[in-house]
Amino acid sequence: MKKVLFIDRDGTLISEPQDTFQVDNFGKLIFIKQVITFLSKIRKEMDYEFVMVTNQDGLGTASFPESDFWPIQNFMMKVFENEGITFDAVFIDRSFPEQNLPTRKPGTAMVSKYLNGNYDLANSFVIGDRITDVEFAKNIGCKAILFNSETKETGPYSSVIELVTDSWETIYNFLRGIDRKVICKRTTSETQISLFLNLDGKGVGKVGTGIPFFDHMLEQLIRHGNMDLFLNAKGDLQIDSHHTIEDCGILLGQAFYEATTVKIGLNRYGFELPMDESLAKVAVDFGGRSYFKWSFKCPETTVADIPVSLFEHFFRSFAEHARINLHIKVKGRNAHHGIEAAFKAFARAVKMAVQRNSFATDLPTTKGLL
Ligand SMILES: [Mg+2]
Repeated sequence: MKKVLFIDRDGTLISEPQDTFQVDNFGKLIFIKQVITFLSKIRKEMDYEFVMVTNQDGLGTASFPESDFWPIQNFMMKVFENEGITFDAVFIDRSFPEQNLPTRKPGTAMVSKYLNGNYDLANSFVIGDRITDVEFAKNIGCKAILFNSETKETGPYSSVIELVTDSWETIYNFLRGIDRKVICKRTTSETQISLFLNLDGKGVGKVGTGIPFFDHMLEQLIRHGNMDLFLNAKGDLQIDSHHTIEDCGILLGQAFYEATTVKIGLNRYGFELPMDESLAKVAVDFGGRSYFKWSFKCPETTVADIPVSLFEHFFRSFAEHARINLHIKVKGRNAHHGIEAAFKAFARAVKMAVQRNSFATDLPTTKGLL
């Protein structure tokens, strides 16, 4: 699901005049320090939709004619656009505070399309300089970044505010360093699966799919990937294990995709390990494009009554939904060893690939985009 940054305008992107609170001529247009530099980096490196939400008291009335507003708004948007900062939507409320309209922040009527369940609001933010921006965040179920370090009293909204600052550099570093934790679930007529994943965990977790061998394989991800994973799946095992294993691959892939949306400093690695007579090679690239290649050379075609081809299906589902490039090559005589070696090598490769160099400032690519 898409995450959103709902960004206030006056006092957050551009300075707000403290006498009239209206930017109504070019002499009053001052961009907030470093907003262009860091908003541009956020736009390029992270996966948020940008939505501007602003109250412009009495816009279109004698107190704030359109002709005083639009040239400045259009100029500001052009400057942003030229620096790679595009807004997916802009919402401007024109009412006065005393009208108490539901469209005016902290009212949510202007952004109702974002409240229909298709957006990941719990991991979205409102960035604004007033407590009404924080209240707006609370009303739409987001967290808030209060762009006003002079605010000392946040009253009942302290649980909504994740960061108080007046620095766009701090906002950038905060968003970049957000915990890579994902909670997600998937329900179909065939399976119900829920999971919690923390890429920066300590290697703890619990897996219950009703398929002991598959649980054992996913536990390799916890142990050798050094990540936290709690996964519970209830599938139509009375038919066979196909839907459960496939859908776990889909949901895990989605969770990894969401957890790695900030790609700065990510490694891109592979791993190779033996298990008795079996040798597994896994190469993985979290570059944002999915590709899957599988080679399993083993005379045994089942393991724990599960066809080996179902594990190919699991990894393919994972790679497609995590949008990664995944190559797995296994050679051996014993399918149990081969599959287990594949999961272990996969866990090690993923562990290395999702590790971040916290001092890196570049994307791990020469293309400038992942
Ligand atoms: Mg403001």
